[in-house]
Amino acid sequence: MIHERILGLLRKQARAWGGDVSVVPRVVYGAIRSAESTAERFYEAPFTDGLGSFWSSKVIVISERNSDWAGIVHEMGHCFAAPKNPDDYNREYDFFGWEWALVRALELPETCWRQQNKNYVVGEENGDSNDFGVLSLREQTRILEARLGVAKKLGLVRGSRPIAIR
Ligand SMILES: [Zn+2]
Repeated sequence: MIHERILGLLRKQARAWGGDVSVVPRVVYGAIRSAESTAERFYEAPFTDGLGSFWSSKVIVISERNSDWAGIVHEMGHCFAAPKNPDDYNREYDFFGWEWALVRALELPETCWRQQNKNYVVGEENGDSNDFGVLSLREQTRILEARLGVAKKLGLVRGSRPIAIR
């Protein structure tokens, strides 16, 4: 189960941007992911259990058993801060700083967000890469600040505010 207050804040923001966050029973989630001919393609997130999005309509779907709200933040990145669908877009690191900006803008518990992102692989494609969780807090912050800088350059964050680009 996801913390209700956090869920409410994420949902409110998603709706303000023209999308939504939907928590569904496990069986409903199973039906969504196995449906072969739904009107709209469902993109399931890798490395997590019961999370994905209807990218075109910007609706994030999460199974009620999944407590990974950082995963919702990440899927929101795909839906609102990426120009292409998750299959056609592999520059997720570009919106990692946007994710951090969203967590801070909504005043969500950042320590918890960092912990839930412990398996996020940080680093440049051809350089050193590491699991976020093995880094010290200071190293994490250094990386997040760098990614925030990239997100600002790309127009995904203005000031401290995350922007929806679609
Ligand atoms: Zn992703």
